[in-house]
Amino acid sequence: MDHFRALVADNNGEEAPTLTIKNLTTADLPEGEVTVRVAYSSVNYKDGMVGIWGRMIKSYPHIPGIDLSGTVTESTDPRYKPGDEVIVTSYGLGVTHYGGYSELARVPASWVVPLPTGLTQREAMILGTAGFTAALSVQRLEDNGLTPEKGPVVVAGASGGVGSVAVNILAKRGYEVTASTGRLSEEAYLKELGAKHVIHRDELTETEQRPIRRPLWAAAVDPVGGKTLSYLLSTLQYGGSVATSGLTGGVEVETSVYPFILRGVNWLGIDSVECPMELRSRVWERLASDLKPTMLSNTIVNEIQLEQLPEELALILQGQVRGRTIVKLG
Ligand code: NDP
Repeated sequence: MDHFRALVADNNGEEAPTLTIKNLTTADLPEGEVTVRVAYSSVNYKDGMVGIWGRMIKSYPHIPGIDLSGTVTESTDPRYKPGDEVIVTSYGLGVTHYGGYSELARVPASWVVPLPTGLTQREAMILGTAGFTAALSVQRLEDNGLTPEKGPVVVAGASGGVGSVAVNILAKRGYEVTASTGRLSEEAYLKELGAKHVIHRDELTETEQRPIRRPLWAAAVDPVGGKTLSYLLSTLQYGGSVATSGLTGGVEVETSVYPFILRGVNWLGIDSVECPMELRSRVWERLASDLKPTMLSNTIVNEIQLEQLPEELALILQGQVRGRTIVKLG
């Protein structure tokens, strides 16, 4: 495959990049030890920030796409050989290095995760960075003492990528899940994923800053941040934890020392990008086994082609995408 198609972001001095599908050759690929024929990629909020807003792009032209799954076609690293099925996410993929919106990708071997037994390439991208982040959040919460007996768990931004996978994983593990969403029209979908209660996100939004409130949750998964996170910190039960991964609701968080010194709560930072490979591989193995979401087989997945990406990337920035969207390349 000397020629291949990719979604290329260019910038001719405008504020936002232009996105065009181009025919490229292998000579256009960046350096790296492993070349992958990409089967699927996916759409994440970060892909919207990169592709539509041009955030984090260091130089043009650029191929976005922070996730890919596929089959190795060439490798100068002895750990990988042609025919191996792999997942690549995180590090610089799709941000500082050409990403997954491309039929062919070349990446450093140190970014590659072998596709675990129990997951297909398609399933790996239904999960993608969002699913990985949801699983990492659950892993960290449980490492900090969370069990279903401790009490209810709330998931913010529940109809988005991280949120929907988190709802599904937690429900499957026996937790009583409250899903918080700005789109109550998604109630049936969220209940199908396993949420016991669905609440409007306004119920979790701090209007009046109070350091501590009636304790409600044993834990929270929060890809939203901002005023939602302020509220969650003030409503965790004694010893409870919040796993913070995102910023769709804002980056500023007002809080005080009280939840920490009066209730011993844990504020856990979740980072998928630089997550060490040993933990990363363990979480992917778990996503293929005990944490494998039921949504992979039950829920209809939005599958798109390269041509539909510009529109889909704009929609995710407007909070209009439900669950996960995958991109078929192979
Ligand atoms: P999605 O757009 O799929 O989901 C985000 C959800 O947040 C939306 O679906 C919506 O849920 C909610 N939301 C959107 N806008 C607002 C708003 N203004 N106020 C409150 N809630 C809002 O994105 P992803 O799941 O891909 O990513 C979620 C966040 O997590 C992003 O900030 C992303 O950058 C971050 N992230 C971080 C990672 C890390 O390593 N730390 C890895 C992956 C993602 P609803 O309609 O249900 O309210």
